This record gives sequence, C-alpha cells and structure tokens, in this order.
Amino acid sequence: MKNQIRLRFAPSPTGPLHIGGLRTALFNYLFAKKMGGELVLRIEDTDKKRTVKESQKHIEESLSWLGIDFDESTSKGGDYGPYNQSERGSVYIKYANELIERGMAYYAFDTTEALDLERKGHEKKGKTFIYNSHNRERGRLINSLVLSEKETQEKIEKGRYVIRFKTPADKLIHFEDIIRGKVSVSTRDIDDKILFKSDGMPTYHLANVVDDHLMKISHVIRGEEWLPSLALHNLIYDAFGWTAPKFAHLPLILKPTGKGKLSKRDGDQFGFPVYAISWSEEKLYKGFKESGFLSSSLINYMAFLGWRPKGDNEIYSISELISDFRLENINKAGAKFDPKKLLWVNAQHIQKTNIKELVKLCSSKNADIEKDVFEKFLELVRPRLETIEGLKKKFIFLFERPGINKDLVNKMSSKETITAINDFITEVRSNKTNKAQNLKELLSKSVERSGAKFGKTLGFCRASIVGKMEGPDVFEMMEFIGAQETIVRLKLGANI
Ligand code: GLU
Repeated sequence: MKNQIRLRFAPSPTGPLHIGGLRTALFNYLFAKKMGGELVLRIEDTDKKRTVKESQKHIEESLSWLGIDFDESTSKGGDYGPYNQSERGSVYIKYANELIERGMAYYAFDTTEALDLERKGHEKKGKTFIYNSHNRERGRLINSLVLSEKETQEKIEKGRYVIRFKTPADKLIHFEDIIRGKVSVSTRDIDDKILFKSDGMPTYHLANVVDDHLMKISHVIRGEEWLPSLALHNLIYDAFGWTAPKFAHLPLILKPTGKGKLSKRDGDQFGFPVYAISWSEEKLYKGFKESGFLSSSLINYMAFLGWRPKGDNEIYSISELISDFRLENINKAGAKFDPKKLLWVNAQHIQKTNIKELVKLCSSKNADIEKDVFEKFLELVRPRLETIEGLKKKFIFLFERPGINKDLVNKMSSKETITAINDFITEVRSNKTNKAQNLKELLSKSVERSGAKFGKTLGFCRASIVGKMEGPDVFEMMEFIGAQETIVRLKLGANI
C-alpha cells in the first residue's frame, strides 16, 4: 500500500459532462494506468442548489462509453466510500470542528447584506474587499474571533453561521505544480474561504481536501480553472498537518478560433458536439457518440489536447497512449479544439479498426442496412468515411437505383463507349461473373475491342451506377450491387 499511486476524477453533477471534464478524466485514467495505480470516481455533489438530477447518470454513461473505467466509485464500491460527497456529510463537520479546535478556522455570522456593504465600501475607495487577517478582527465583521464564547454559542444555536478558514497572515507560500513548476502566492491576497455552510454541507474546498486525504489520493490532475485554489488547498493541508498530493493543472481547451475558453454553447454555434453522449435540456444536444464518432477516436483526439508524445505519430490506440503518456509532456499553453482534426482522427480510426469490430460499432446505428451485406458494405465504403452514422443515406446508390443523370451520362458517352458497354454486358452475361477483378478485366477487353477510351468508359459506368461522379471503386461497386443490377443501370445509362 505504501507509495500507492491513486488518482481521482471528481466532477460536480451540475450539468452534462463536456469535453473539458472528459479530457480531465482521460488524463487521470492514462496516468493511473501508466503507473499501475488506482482510479476513483468521486461525485462532488455538496452544492444542493446546483445539482442537476440527471447529470450523474450522464457522467457515468459518458465515461463508460469512452471505456474510462474506475477501480472505485458509487456503483463499484470500494474501501474509501461513500463516493458521493452528499453521503459523507458527517465526515466533514468533524474535520471543520478539528480546524476550529486547532485555531485554524472560526465561526462567522455576517449577513449577505453586511458583506455586500463591505464590498461596496471598498470598491468606492478603489480597493478589493478580502475577508482575512486585515479586517476579520477589526470589529465590523461578526465572527467568533471578536465575540465572546457565550455570544458565539448563542449565534450558533440560532443556526445561521458559516465556518471560515483562518488564512495565515501575510505569508509568502510556495508550492509546486507538475506542469507549471514552482508557484508563490502571498496570503495577503487570499480570502478566509468558507469551509462549511449553514445548510450543514461543506464547501468544495473543505470536502475536496478532506476526501483527497481520506481517499489517499497521491496525484490530483484537474483543469486550470482550479489553479487559483491551489494556494488555499495547500494551506488547508498544512493546517491539518497532512501531506498534500502532487498537483497537475491541465491547460484550458480553447474555442476553434483560439480565442477564449471552449464553452458548452460553442458546440451549438460552430455545429459540433461537446458532450460524449447526447444530453437533452430544453432541446437535444447530440453527443459525439450519436454523431458517429468512435470512442477510440475521441480518446485519441482528447489526449492531444494539451499533451504531445515524442515523434510525429498522431494516431494512437488507448494502450499506446497509456504506454507513451507522461505528465511532463503536457503543455502550459491552452489547446485549441479543432473539430476538423477530430474528423480526420475519426477517419483514421475507422480505417484501422478491425472490420468485425467496426460492424459491431456501426450496425445498431445503421439498422436500415441489411445485416448480411453490412461487412461487405463497410469494407467498400470505409476509406471514405469520416463518421459512422447515416451510412445508408450517404451511399444510397449502393442500395437503390439512382435516377438517370442524362447530362452526365451524355457527357461521358461516345459511340465507342456505348459499343464497349454493349460488349461488356454480353461478356458479363456469358461469363456469369460478379467479382470486381474479373469485371475489370472484361471491361478492359471490351474497351480494347471497340476502340473506346478506358477512362471515359469508366466514367460512363460511374455516372450510370451512382448518378454522380463520386463513390468507391467502380468494379467494387458493381460487385456489391451484383451483375444483374449493374447491367440494368448500364443499359438505362446507355438508353439501350
Ligand atoms: N468538483 C470539481 C469540478 O467539478 C473538482 C475539482 C477538482 O478536481 O479538484 O471540477
């Protein structure tokens, strides 16, 4: 158990889990796996007002779709549970009281209005109000540091109090972040943050530190937005006399324009998903899963949001990521979210995935394609796929005869072409073949015999089979739709 590497992903269920949270979960997972450590899923649901009912389910299902699994969680159990903070209430008050006894925290009774007045008064003088050693005992603020024990007790009994952390006065504190290096902060600028609220619940800061300690977390990997809390968290660890875990704050994920942090609204605005799986609020937000992305591609792409391995390879499987992952290779600079790049990564994964596996991944999404042709169909079209949804519609000409595109077939035909096509039809009938390779040989011979041009004749075939100048290899398409159907389409094209 000594020196055990333990990580946690600690989302607040205040809404759907978006790509920022998913990336944090992934980096925790990669590091835990790399180090042979353990990974905990802890739900930080102490803020009753902000908790959204369906979001824990969304978090769990998103992570499960991505294959980010946990050693300990509410559903899995474990030695350090409960893993929902709302079920750990009695733990936190004990620790808040311990800090009060140690003289590191105190009760405060200031009303919201009184604090607002303080804030405004400071603003008028061009200053910022910070509740700490500079004013907590001056008499304007009401707390157990200025009241008598009796007065304090009376106020506590009335039930409207908070417990604040007693930030040490004017001290320069130093700590370290694995990604950002050494950081120094003066406690002059740190608020006596509320640790415990009058609703009997801890705030994020207390619950987070207490649980990371009790759950024996060795490394905290989380988003950059928590960096400003790091000084306070280090002070809380010191106040308890605990050793703090090691910290790594991941760079921000930026909008595709590179300007500003990627937000949930950007997906809507730029037309790409930001959630792993769909989320419906007032409307439905499609997830990456429902938009035809493979979980392996999203994992691969997200790993590169802030991290870079040595070398140029950009296509990685999860096990390759685990083996190459190093916290030291994470950048400080924000990482731009590039939906086009993600499509490219998805296309590469579609190409690389074992065909049987790919059939499994695609079939439920494309139930309108008959099972017995699915594998053949995928083999044929996968080099052209960026996503795996709506496949029948995209390649409808492989299932239904297209209307004749007169202009196009006319453009592609000449007297010789039509002679070649006629000859080809006769050959296909008498050879009774359906194989792409044989069909190619037959057409070459027909072209030769009739003096037509191979390229043009091929163009004619494509125009007749697809109705457009697109689609997979002509002979592969002929094999897929079958000799009979090929003949019908060619004849319609040639008007014979
Ligand atoms: N509950 C916090 C969040 O939702 C966790 C921050 C942390 O990892 O310490 O982001």
